[in-house]
Amino acid sequence: MTTNPKYIFVTGGVSSSLGKGIIAASLAKLLQAQGYRATIQKLDPYINIDPGTLNPYEHGECYVTDDGAETDLDLGHYERFLNVPTSQANNVTTGRIYQSVIDQERRGEFLGKTVQVIPHITDEIKRRIQILGNSGDYDIVITEIGGTVGDIESLPYIEAVRQLEWDLGEHNTCVIHLTLVPYLSAAGELKTKPTQHSVKTLMESGVQADILVCRTEHKLSDSLKTKLARFCNVKKEAVIESIDASTIYDVPNLMLKEGLDKVVLNQLQLKSDVPDLEQWNEFLKRHKNPKSEVTIGLIGKYVELQDSYKSILEAFIHAGAENEVKVNVEPIHSEYLSESNIEFKLGHLDGVLVAPGFGERGIEGKIAAVQFVRENNIPFLGICLGMQMAVIEYARNVLKLPEANSVEMDDKTADPVISLMASQKGVTNKGGTMRLGTWDCKLEQESIAHSVYNSELITERHRHRFEFNNDYKSLFEAAGMKATGFNPETGLVEIVEIPTNDWFIGVQYHPEYKSTVKNPHPLFIAFIEAALKYNKKK
Ligand code: GLN
Repeated sequence: MTTNPKYIFVTGGVSSSLGKGIIAASLAKLLQAQGYRATIQKLDPYINIDPGTLNPYEHGECYVTDDGAETDLDLGHYERFLNVPTSQANNVTTGRIYQSVIDQERRGEFLGKTVQVIPHITDEIKRRIQILGNSGDYDIVITEIGGTVGDIESLPYIEAVRQLEWDLGEHNTCVIHLTLVPYLSAAGELKTKPTQHSVKTLMESGVQADILVCRTEHKLSDSLKTKLARFCNVKKEAVIESIDASTIYDVPNLMLKEGLDKVVLNQLQLKSDVPDLEQWNEFLKRHKNPKSEVTIGLIGKYVELQDSYKSILEAFIHAGAENEVKVNVEPIHSEYLSESNIEFKLGHLDGVLVAPGFGERGIEGKIAAVQFVRENNIPFLGICLGMQMAVIEYARNVLKLPEANSVEMDDKTADPVISLMASQKGVTNKGGTMRLGTWDCKLEQESIAHSVYNSELITERHRHRFEFNNDYKSLFEAAGMKATGFNPETGLVEIVEIPTNDWFIGVQYHPEYKSTVKNPHPLFIAFIEAALKYNKKK
């Protein structure tokens, strides 16, 4: 659509957690719906190479791309909104930038020069920003800069933006500054001063915001917009209100109403059109007008923090809309689950999802939960660690192997029903060394999986180190737990089911990463269907 790629930068001011990712994804959606090929990239100013080693309490869920990159959860929003896969190039951290510059230095590529933040680090940032644009796959690249302007660690990124604006020339870049306009209830007023200051901070680094997106709990009056425009040196139509929404999926329409896409396209001297949001709005209609409801228990150890299971929660929203069902997700802390309270905590549920996870904390609660749902024939979906827990529970309580465990939890267990692949045995580095990204999975006929996917060969994304131990496969199958999906190259078991139950399935992969508004994940759709059926039967 365009001759050269255009670049939009999204910076944040005043406070963190204003939702830069959602604004970026919503804008991209509006541009995509006008025929532009848009992608979004997240630059994270922390030193970790990627969020793969971060605890979910620190940074929420780690999202995994097809190419096996462990990335920021905002990439999940990008994919869910755009239905276009992201890759390693869509998420860059300061750690990664420094690592490549230091590697170049060790190879002697700087020819004796002193290596410095400017130009070497900023050049590497600029190169990373332009990788997507130079690929020829996109007309518009939106780069979201993590953190808040004024943070020491964001400075090289803002400097790179300043330089790129010069390098790329007029009408090829656009800077959107997302800020907060707080409401002071004592004064009964919305306040613009924090925004004025954050725009000023940005200007101190030589970057002038072109557009302000103002997060607010109340509508911005015309005079307040005029004031913000005047004090912050932007056009009045470039002051965009972003009022709190009941669902993130409303934000593209809210931004459309405010004209964000028009102002952006105008600045970039690109044609604007009426976006085609028909399918999006159809999804919203179904999401907002459910005909029935189900309650699903989400059993995990990070349940107090919504962001830890972001993709799972969103996949439920997509699958709920598809079924016209409201999905109430009840977070249940696995650490506090025991035989004595399990009936009370799970007895009323229409379905149970045992979540992914790492390490020992809370696993006995997960195992108790699987036993309860298996024995009571409640629809069950186990994801990754959740699938492994289903295998261990079956081994302990049906195969009568009371010591059965995963070697992750007990490396001396007598019955390692979940074990390490030979290729993982010598691995000591934690970062980027798991079984990651897309793997093929062949499905057995006559299985839930086969009927759900309606296909023989599927691909799904992985993020785990431990695997079903095939030495036990025949024992499990003879007792009634079947392996219904496996990787054709390695023979690794990817799916287990109990055909005598109505709907019991554990998957070693992460279906939640691939659920989008346009393509709700079939496994989640079928799980909600099963829960609805169970609810009606109750
Ligand atoms: N801890 C398990 C493993 O590494 C499961 C990982 C997960 O649930 N993502 O195999």
